[in-house]
Amino acid sequence: MIKFLIDNVLNDKPYTKHDLCVILQAKDDDRQYLFKRAQEVKEKYIGKKVYFRGLIEYSNICAKNCYYCGIRRDNKLLERYTMTNDEVLEAAHFAYTNKYGSIVLQSGELSSHSYTQNITYLLHEIKKLSNGELGITLSLGEQSEETYRQWYDAGAHRYLLRIETSSKEHYEQIHPNDEQHRFENRLKTLHTLKKLNYQVGTGVMIGLPFQTYEHLAADLMFMKNFDIDMCGMGPYIEHKDTPMYNWKVDLLPLAERYDITLKMIALLRIMMKDINIASTTALQAIDPIGREKAITIGANIIMPNITPKKYRDKYFLYDNKPCADEEAEDCVRCLEMRIKFAGGEIGYNEWGDSKHFLNKKIHDSTD
Ligand code: SAM
Ligand code: SF4
Repeated sequence: MIKFLIDNVLNDKPYTKHDLCVILQAKDDDRQYLFKRAQEVKEKYIGKKVYFRGLIEYSNICAKNCYYCGIRRDNKLLERYTMTNDEVLEAAHFAYTNKYGSIVLQSGELSSHSYTQNITYLLHEIKKLSNGELGITLSLGEQSEETYRQWYDAGAHRYLLRIETSSKEHYEQIHPNDEQHRFENRLKTLHTLKKLNYQVGTGVMIGLPFQTYEHLAADLMFMKNFDIDMCGMGPYIEHKDTPMYNWKVDLLPLAERYDITLKMIALLRIMMKDINIASTTALQAIDPIGREKAITIGANIIMPNITPKKYRDKYFLYDNKPCADEEAEDCVRCLEMRIKFAGGEIGYNEWGDSKHFLNKKIHDSTD
């Protein structure tokens, strides 16, 4: 029965949220069937290539207070930092000379004029130092349309903004109830990014308190209906200095959160065959080869951390974040081996843009 439902999704036949819910609970043989089909879809539509995005964790200063996040504004136990412009450019140069093809600039959410202008400056400088060759993804939270436009014009072309959960009610359970944390704004912002021609990535955390299989199935439907170009989703991992830590006893065991994440990735791959799907660091925090497993069953993007070592232990979104004591070079070497082991090839010096986005553009221009 579950195999039949999987085939329906695979063949783009009509399916319901309930079908997705059932598939997400697949076990044993059915679970393997899902992974196998996702692997085949990936090989057919995406190929073996895995693309790098050198991750620069620019600043851990955040104006927001999400209940789950270790760098939330009210965590006073954290030493705050912002990388200097030279450090950012050095990291981008490292990515360029090591043929990463792309970087992701990520940070806590700030929207002061000086912050947004400095990002614009950095975008111009990164383009300059790489002769326009480094692709740039931003993950800097909710900003105004004008700011997004300015950053796009300065050279950013992909944006990651997780919806976190597609249920308004669930969103309100995991965020403070104030103007800064409105589900409607998050949604509106995703639409703005799409309108401005960014390749838009979103995603959710998996294994959150109050989350059900119905929520997760709805999340997948949301991504399909929004027609996203990229996805980054990973297990929720608790951080001891956050309000959500109080709900720790109600959480699924880490191994289960990890397993559901793999199923979410595999199922999304067969639902949206040509999008980019990231294998996130949080998977590696649970299983040392977690990211490679995700590559095997559907993911095609990996984000090696190239933040300077001195800042690594200050960007702890959750406990036990991996690679905190490694310099970027160590991570590159170990990653290359790990990806080969997972049957992938690294797309050196390539942007590895979302095929889904490119296909849409071709389709639009021929309409
Ligand atoms: N501030 C920006 C934003 O929220 O979009 C970008 C940086 S934020 C740290 C990136 C992502 O980290 C969030 O979208 C959230 O899904 C994830 N994250 C935060 N706390 C987490 C946790 N405890 N476990 C897993 N992922 C977490
Ligand atoms: Fe800030 Fe993003 Fe963390 Fe929320 S998830 S507290 S916006 S860094």
